[in-house]
Amino acid sequence: MQVIMMDEGAKHALIERDFSYKLTDSHHDNDIGTGAAVRKRSKLYLHLKKWLERAILDYGLIAEGDRVLVGVSGGTDSFALLDLLRSPMIFVPKFSVTAVHIDLGFAGGERDAGLIEGELKKMVSDYVIEETDIGPLAHSEFNRKNPCFLCSRLRRKRIFEIAEAKGCNRIAFAHHRDDIIETLLINLFYGREISTMKPNQSIFNGALHIVRPLAYLREGLIKKYAGERGFNVVANRCPTGKTSKRLYVKELLHSLEKENPQIRHNIWTAMHHVKPDYLL
Ligand code: SF4
Repeated sequence: MQVIMMDEGAKHALIERDFSYKLTDSHHDNDIGTGAAVRKRSKLYLHLKKWLERAILDYGLIAEGDRVLVGVSGGTDSFALLDLLRSPMIFVPKFSVTAVHIDLGFAGGERDAGLIEGELKKMVSDYVIEETDIGPLAHSEFNRKNPCFLCSRLRRKRIFEIAEAKGCNRIAFAHHRDDIIETLLINLFYGREISTMKPNQSIFNGALHIVRPLAYLREGLIKKYAGERGFNVVANRCPTGKTSKRLYVKELLHSLEKENPQIRHNIWTAMHHVKPDYLL
């Protein structure tokens, strides 16, 4: 394999150029086998695959023999992540995948776990679906102020326990480039710190790694791919989902982009140009 060293500025320029990719139509070029199923390759698939593998290699997200537990919420991003991780890799060594869905128990979602299981069965042979009451608990009277904190904490704890039970050393989440940008602003505006989600985060003294293979990919393209693949996604049933800080920041960025289309790119690039000498 030829390894080409590239400085950070050139790399981000290249990534940005590729981010400008637009899908005009789905040209299905090749068929490739993925177990029993046969997948059609589209230009969009190849583009996403290229940048997924690139993130895996750049950040050392997956190594030979890793056992990866993929968090699946039932939305477009997580189905796309699972689908891409299950497709044949060119540069990434062999690893195994287990999927996990934590049903949060929101009202109206009684059939969701069954629908998600239907999708998981098509993609992986090993999966865990756990039904919980984390959602209602996080929204109960005693926790009105910050449901997201308790919700994500309890969900994450359960995922860590399942990773341990399944012998997995990596947990993959479907956070993409826009999530990373929005998290930086959420932490800055509301958390009083300058931080975001890292593509590769080591926890428990390195026993476990949280990895984000979609880190280079834009949300819009992932959603487009999910549409192309026809995933059976379930609705977000969380009442806070419609009023969350994340939604506010997302809409804020949308409106800022109308004046300056480069705004997300600038924030992304700024994360690679931190100047501690010019901070307090
Ligand atoms: S938006 Fe809803 S589902 Fe998401 S972390 Fe907050 S409470 Fe949980």
